[in-house]
Amino acid sequence: RAKATLGESVCFFEPGMDESARQRRQLAADLRHAVERGELRLLYQPQRSLRTGTLAGYEALLRWQHPVRGAVSPADFIPIAEETGEIIALGEWVLRQACIEARGWPGEEKVAVNLSPVQFLQPDLVEMVRAVLLETGLPARRLELEITETAIISDKLRALHCLRQIKGMGISVAIDDFGTGYSSLDTLQSFPFDKIKIDKSFLMRSEGSAQARAIIRAVLALGKSLDIPVLAEGVETESQLRVLEAEGCDEAQGYYFGRPAEAPSLEVTETRLQKIHPVSL
Ligand code: C2E
Ligand code: MG
Ligand code: MG
Ligand code: MG
Repeated sequence: RAKATLGESVCFFEPGMDESARQRRQLAADLRHAVERGELRLLYQPQRSLRTGTLAGYEALLRWQHPVRGAVSPADFIPIAEETGEIIALGEWVLRQACIEARGWPGEEKVAVNLSPVQFLQPDLVEMVRAVLLETGLPARRLELEITETAIISDKLRALHCLRQIKGMGISVAIDDFGTGYSSLDTLQSFPFDKIKIDKSFLMRSEGSAQARAIIRAVLALGKSLDIPVLAEGVETESQLRVLEAEGCDEAQGYYFGRPAEAPSLEVTETRLQKIHPVSL
């Protein structure tokens, strides 16, 4: 496996190797032991329904506390884990951990777990997910898997088969970072997604850019016509929330409602949500 090769060939002062390549190799090597050394944990970020004003669920987001470097961003280490193959073991750990923790929550909220395209391409993905649910006892209806289009473009038939099996278990599936990458209308129409997550880059530009706002509007219209709820990522301000409400967005997630946080602070988050926007039901 690529991972073993890469791990064994780690060399700290190979002449000619540039600093960033050396650092990547070191991170790849360190990542192989991160789970067993207890350096990884999950944080949870609330997702809020704009229709009912209630908490819709939480997205699990992976954090790595490196013993020397401190916090390493998943944006930096997930691509490395994908390159080495380590993401397969890591992703299974994430799923199991998220299911175990969600089972212990006081409420029945959904937990959304990110799946890497590399994981999605594993032939035993469906069996792995089934086994984790059985083992942890989390009801399938409380699990949502987030995938990006990168996961499905290489083999659409296989991906469709896979998604149908996952949905057949009662798990829901969201398409993440929609609008970036290879997003196509065809994909949306032919895959049974339960949610579209508009990438945060659009909302971030929505106030300054008429185009970004037009894209948000178009995705919402698309969701409406295909009858798929749309969640906007990256809501940081009240005025961004107003834009989403005006456009009829179904759900939202972002620092405005709560940063990714430890499970024990879930109740605090819920209280904060209600303070900002009292539940109107
Ligand atoms: P994502 O799945 O699109 O997750 C949303 C990212 O946006 C998270 O970054 C979250 O902390 C950040 N975010 C949420 N609200 C706001 C906001 O209001 N403003 C801004 N600026 N950012 C916001 P994070 O946690 O750094 O994760 C980055 C990416 O790393 C994720 O993007 C996902 O693609 C990947 N990732 C994280 N955890 C996992 C995991 O367990 N497995 C896999 N395969 N990928 C993961
Ligand atoms: Mg996500
Ligand atoms: Mg996203
Ligand atoms: Mg992403």
